[in-house]
Amino acid sequence: MVQLIDGKSLSNKIIDEIRKDIDSIRLNNQRLPGLAVILVGNDPASSIYVGKKEKVCNAIGIRSLVKKYDNTITEKSLIEEISLLNNDNNIDGILIQLPLPFHINQRNIIESVRPEKDVDGFHPVNIGNLFLGYNTFVPCTPLGIIKLLDYYNINIKSKRVVILGRSNIVGKPLIPLLLQRDATVTTCHSKTINLSEITKEADIIIAAIGKPNYVKREFIGNGAVVIDVGINRVDGKITGDVCFDDVKNVASFITPVPGGVGPMTIAMLMHNTLKAYRLHI
Ligand code: NDP
Repeated sequence: MVQLIDGKSLSNKIIDEIRKDIDSIRLNNQRLPGLAVILVGNDPASSIYVGKKEKVCNAIGIRSLVKKYDNTITEKSLIEEISLLNNDNNIDGILIQLPLPFHINQRNIIESVRPEKDVDGFHPVNIGNLFLGYNTFVPCTPLGIIKLLDYYNINIKSKRVVILGRSNIVGKPLIPLLLQRDATVTTCHSKTINLSEITKEADIIIAAIGKPNYVKREFIGNGAVVIDVGINRVDGKITGDVCFDDVKNVASFITPVPGGVGPMTIAMLMHNTLKAYRLHI
């Protein structure tokens, strides 16, 4: 019988622990942590994500500053705005809500955030530190996945882990995280041939491709652990990259969508913001 990996419940536990830490900061009359979120344009999905992050911040006592800019803002002006936040002692973390409009170079914006305030862990300095195994800000979704595996006592050491997807925000940062935990890691992407032959051999499969219900029963070996990162909107419903009904009779553990990896991403953002605060204070 497959076991559900309940990311909602674990994320609530983690967020509650962070809230307690912030309560004691407040009791000591210290400055509270501050997170600035930059939102450019009116992408509805981005607005929903920013709203969710703001709500959690408010609930646990992180001061949330949402900076909204029109689609027409220039790259130069946006970098100037980020520079103000870099120098603001009340702001510990800066998050750039992606995607940005096409006329703005995403790389230049990410690199304009001070690495010590880069709570998303996307700055090349932080990514470099991660690959070298140094303490750093780890991107929230990959970090959340590792926390889920650990919480469910799913052994990573010496396991064959296959990652589907090689994006800078999910697939790539998972590689060093899993290597540090002594997994044997394989990364697949859109040019991989015979994908299901590779995934069938995996003890743990992590799907982050953005293709609804793509991973079917024939991709999964008996008893494999399946982590579904995908968030796809199909007919107004959120669907993962894994065809849950197809896979549930073969896998040993599976993350549901919604309620699996997604809530962990927000919990890890709070975790990284508190970490930035502690480095900063
Ligand atoms: P990207 O679009 O940036 O990357 C997708 C990756 O999947 C690419 O590396 C691409 O390969 C690969 N890919 C695409 N099609 C296939 C295929 N048929 N077979 C194998 N590999 C394929 O996506 P993201 O990493 O940003 O996001 C992936 C999914 O995760 C999305 O659904 C997104 O919404 C979701 N997501 C969820 C989060 C959460 O909190 N749960 C957070 C972030 C993302 P190539 O490099 O060759 O193009």
